[in-house]
Amino acid sequence: MRQSFGRNAVLMTTRRDFLRLSATGVAMSFWGTTRAPAAQRIILNDASRLSPTPVSRHVTISRAATDDLVARIRAELKEAVAEHRPVAASVARHSMGGQSLPRDGTAISLDGGPLEMDTAARTYRTSAANRWWDVIRILDPRGFSPAVMQSNSDFGVGSTFCVNAHGWPVPHGPFGSTVKAIRMVLADGTLVQCSRSENAELFSLAMGGYGLFGIIVDLDVEMTPNLLLEPRFERMAPEKFADHFVHAIDTDASLAMAYGRMSVSRKNFFDDALMVTYRPLMHQPETLPAVASAGKMTGLQNDIYRAQTGWEIAAPGFEENCSRSGARAGNGGKVEQPLRPPPSPAMPSPAVHQRDTDAD
Ligand SMILES: Cc1cc2nc3c(=O)[nH]c(=O)nc-3n(C[C@H](O)[C@H](O)[C@H](O)COP(=O)(O)OP(=O)(O)OC[C@H]3O[C@@H](n4cnc5c(N)ncnc54)[C@H](O)[C@@H]3O)c2cc1C
Repeated sequence: MRQSFGRNAVLMTTRRDFLRLSATGVAMSFWGTTRAPAAQRIILNDASRLSPTPVSRHVTISRAATDDLVARIRAELKEAVAEHRPVAASVARHSMGGQSLPRDGTAISLDGGPLEMDTAARTYRTSAANRWWDVIRILDPRGFSPAVMQSNSDFGVGSTFCVNAHGWPVPHGPFGSTVKAIRMVLADGTLVQCSRSENAELFSLAMGGYGLFGIIVDLDVEMTPNLLLEPRFERMAPEKFADHFVHAIDTDASLAMAYGRMSVSRKNFFDDALMVTYRPLMHQPETLPAVASAGKMTGLQNDIYRAQTGWEIAAPGFEENCSRSGARAGNGGKVEQPLRPPPSPAMPSPAVHQRDTDAD
């Protein structure tokens, strides 16, 4: 064949072979892209839903005893070091900005653990994996509250130390000022105890250190006896707020908690300020009402309250996040009172009051 058709035949054969081979190649690569098992990517997000981040591994450690928690963290660190992966631990992933999301790394979700109270020392040792509602559930029936926590109770206790969150109780600084000691697993698996007198530098680095210095296992924290507090609301021009606030906390020894809000309504944006102060009731009742949570009804309660006060309608995404967060279950510090203060004559405009349990 080759001889009778000469050079063209050779070319023809070659071209046909080439086309057949090419077609096979295309089919194979087409086959390859459609049929090869696609690698599953794990995408985690924080509460903002603005930071979808791929991680290589996501492990949840639930209700582990301390020794078990340490062992599991060590195992995860060992594997991650071997594979050159970053690691981050977190609880509610409410910190917005991706700090709790290790890109292509190991994400450890901590989900509850042990808590022991020492009523004589007025401290408790809690797993870093507990949320504030876990702490309140155990402390409250025995007459105590966290000395400092954020406005919402769905955050992790370890996370609260890692961001060094502030609360409203006036005698204290941020949460870290009420933490006596922590135990933390370092990157090499060593378990260290840190306090103001032991590994003091590490203690101060870890306080507000966003988990960059190790994974916190548990914390020894101050607690405070329950008291019934009464709120007082004062509305003022924003430029007067700072002086009023500082004056109130410097001169009024009865002040137990204080915070402020700027109006974020469209109409009054930053034109109005509200100062809320809490003092103990003169006559404390024999027994305080138990901390109550409406559970899933809390979001509905808030919406009804806000609708009554003329609250602006939130964007749908915000609504969804709030109701999913399960927040607002705790007492926001040491207040034993309804979660929402009752309307009073000094009640400011609804605009100033809006979202006051959702923001810090
Ligand atoms: C509605 C709302 C209200 C708020 N109110 C307040 C307020 O009143 N006062 C205030 O100061 N802040 C407030 N904040 C901010 C809040 O305190 C922080 O976002 C806090 O980190 C939330 O806790 P989390 O469990 O979601 O933290 P996460 O986002 O899970 O973690 C926070 C950081 O800590 C690290 N981390 C967590 N656990 C560990 C651990 N065991 N070991 C090592 N690293 C760890 C994570 O990697 C991350 O970097 C508020 C935030 C929201 C959304």
